[in-house]
Amino acid sequence: MSTCQSCNKEFNGRSNRKFCSISCKNKFHNDRNKEKEYKVLEINKILHKNWVTLHKLYDIYRSSPISMDVAQAYGYNNDYFTHIHNSPIGEKYTMIYDLGFKNHIDNKIQIIVID
Ligand SMILES: [Zn+2]
Repeated sequence: MSTCQSCNKEFNGRSNRKFCSISCKNKFHNDRNKEKEYKVLEINKILHKNWVTLHKLYDIYRSSPISMDVAQAYGYNNDYFTHIHNSPIGEKYTMIYDLGFKNHIDNKIQIIVID
């Protein structure tokens, strides 16, 4: 007798079998993938919120430098971004998809849209 790793029922079969049926095997692997994807979805949520927040700030302030504290008050999470964009003149932009910002020395940021 073996115990199914998915439904915990005992079943007869080769001793190296882990699951009582194909559907239990599929369920086990689907559940494990869902757990992995959950983490990705959580991070995507933060990135999306950052993107919405930057758009909101860009609508209000355009490319005028604003304090990072203001951005964070609007819900911006400075730990998450999609990539770094290096401009042709050597400036570094922290990007959230198509929107990004340049850091100023005084904890201010300047938002730009990359076409
Ligand atoms: Zn089973």
